[in-house]
Amino acid sequence: MNKEQHLLTDTFGRQHNYLRISLTERCNLRCTYCMPEEGIALSPKSHIMSFDEVYSIAKIFVDHGVTKIRLTGGEPMVRKDIPVILKQLASLPVELSLSTNGINIDRFIDTLKANDIHNINVSLDSLDAEKFHQITRRNYFEKVYNNILLLATNGFKVKINTVLIKNFNDNEIVDFIELTKNIPVTIRFIEFMPFDGNKWDLKRMISYQEIMNTVYRVFSQNRVHRLLDAPNDTSKNYKIEGYKGSFAVISSVTSPFCGSCNRLRLTANGQLKNCLFSASESDLLTALRKGENIEPVIQKAVQGKLGIRGGMDTLEKLKTPRLHTKNRSMTTIGG
Ligand code: SAM
Ligand code: SF4
Repeated sequence: MNKEQHLLTDTFGRQHNYLRISLTERCNLRCTYCMPEEGIALSPKSHIMSFDEVYSIAKIFVDHGVTKIRLTGGEPMVRKDIPVILKQLASLPVELSLSTNGINIDRFIDTLKANDIHNINVSLDSLDAEKFHQITRRNYFEKVYNNILLLATNGFKVKINTVLIKNFNDNEIVDFIELTKNIPVTIRFIEFMPFDGNKWDLKRMISYQEIMNTVYRVFSQNRVHRLLDAPNDTSKNYKIEGYKGSFAVISSVTSPFCGSCNRLRLTANGQLKNCLFSASESDLLTALRKGENIEPVIQKAVQGKLGIRGGMDTLEKLKTPRLHTKNRSMTTIGG
């Protein structure tokens, strides 16, 4: 095993070549499943990584084998220095991508093009403006929808992330799939997951199985093609015959994909999380600011990664509030 593989390989032999970096805890939406209604206590600005610190930490991961970086948040595009961050990270030998709520895409589309960033995930939970308002507590449906079209017509590879909630937007599954008839985007239905303060309840979640039941009620079996998933893919991918786009399901709750996990997460205040569901964190930023070598901290974090969902290996454990409320809210992890 060479040096690169060693630092980012865990005790289960999983090699981590994908780093998700949250750039900010702030957001211009307030999605109910992501943020508690009362908002979250933000870290002081001085605790948030500067653009140079983001670059320095990212570079160390790239030197040790990371080939893919996704920027997320909060909302990454509310950071004023986003053009600088994109430019710096684009100079690294990685596939750079972005997860966004889409509100600021039109302002930065030229910056994305200039830095060769082609893969953009945009969150959109409803095709109904009023429902969009209810779930995000803000009135930006048209802006987001038009920006998705803008990305698609400009040749970006767009994935639309849709968190399904029972009796709220589960009646839109087919409408979302119909969107892929003429627009070459991928709709990714995400099972609603538990995080601190998001009032998770298994009864409000729509499972992979339920999604597929709906699909097969409307589309005949021979028109629904199961696509080959990419290596380390978190989603099960499908396509309706003849449609330009595709759809997928991310089943973190009912069918976790931890065995092939290749992801690590860096929070906006410089904490390394070895798993989305893990409550433990390793402080890279303080070590970096002290001028210390952060590699041993990274190695310890990677070695401490548990096999399945940060130790919540059964649905019973996932349903135990005591276990998942020790974790952060999703908006400060970044998805
Ligand atoms: N603001 C950006 C956005 O909305 O895409 C990036 C950050 S957001 C936290 C990343 C992804 O996490 C979004 O697609 C969002 O839908 C998803 N997400 C947030 N809370 C979730 C939850 N409780 N269950 C499942 N997905 C969730
Ligand atoms: Fe903001 Fe994204 Fe969370 Fe919605 S899902 S509140 S857009 S961070």
